[in-house]
Amino acid sequence: MNITCNIIKDLLPLYVEDMVSEDSKALVDDHLCSCDSCTKELAELKKAPKVPVEVETTSLKRVEDTIRKRKMLTAATAGRRAGHRNHFFDDTGVPDGPAGH
Ligand SMILES: [Zn+2]
Repeated sequence: MNITCNIIKDLLPLYVEDMVSEDSKALVDDHLCSCDSCTKELAELKKAPKVPVEVETTSLKRVEDTIRKRKMLTAATAGRRAGHRNHFFDDTGVPDGPAGH
């Protein structure tokens, strides 16, 4: 079986994640010994994963902040509305719902 750089490059992402079988690992190791191109590719892959993870965490935090602010706003609005309604019913003596009458 002729192992080309394309095959190794297909395996490299899994190799970095330690998701390959021992056989594939040996295959990649063997190829890396004699191939500068794939060694560089491996170095890039080892550097790469950290970046997307950081970006994801940051954007996730931003989304969480937005959701929290929205919830607070919604709660404040809902509270004010409920307050108004209760005040209205207290004034007129109309019970809240048919069960009270
Ligand atoms: Zn190669």
